[in-house]
Amino acid sequence: MLIDNDVLIDAGTGIGDLELADLDSIRHVFLTHAHLDHIAGLPMLVDRVFDENFTVPLTVYALEETLRAIQEHLFNGVIWPDFAKLPTPERPMLRYRVCSPGDTIRIDHRDFYAVDVMHSVPSLGYTVRNSGGAFAVSGDTKSNETL
Ligand SMILES: [Zn+2]
Repeated sequence: MLIDNDVLIDAGTGIGDLELADLDSIRHVFLTHAHLDHIAGLPMLVDRVFDENFTVPLTVYALEETLRAIQEHLFNGVIWPDFAKLPTPERPMLRYRVCSPGDTIRIDHRDFYAVDVMHSVPSLGYTVRNSGGAFAVSGDTKSNETL
């Protein structure tokens, strides 16, 4: 789900529905969980926006378990380059930020509130709020008390 022009919630195969130019302004990705249909587009997104002269890095927000999974099994230097060390480890294009249930991350005029949700792997849902309203993204959860 693309929010405005710079934030994605999950990065699955739906990225393929976006125009290439739409990808260039994305700088924040909130992941609900590590299942492939929610992260499959992330490697290509990072490759697309990678620029050695970047001004704003791409930040991926998720549970610690989700970030560990994509670091170990995706951006591991074998399946795909470790963009958290490129172009240099001191100034990487890709940053990871742990997001836990109850955290609110403000990006410009929008608040992203992380909600614990039930799934077969550790997962978050998010509520997204600005002055005009709010909506929630549940990821793959079904009925869920917290959401
Ligand atoms: Zn899932």
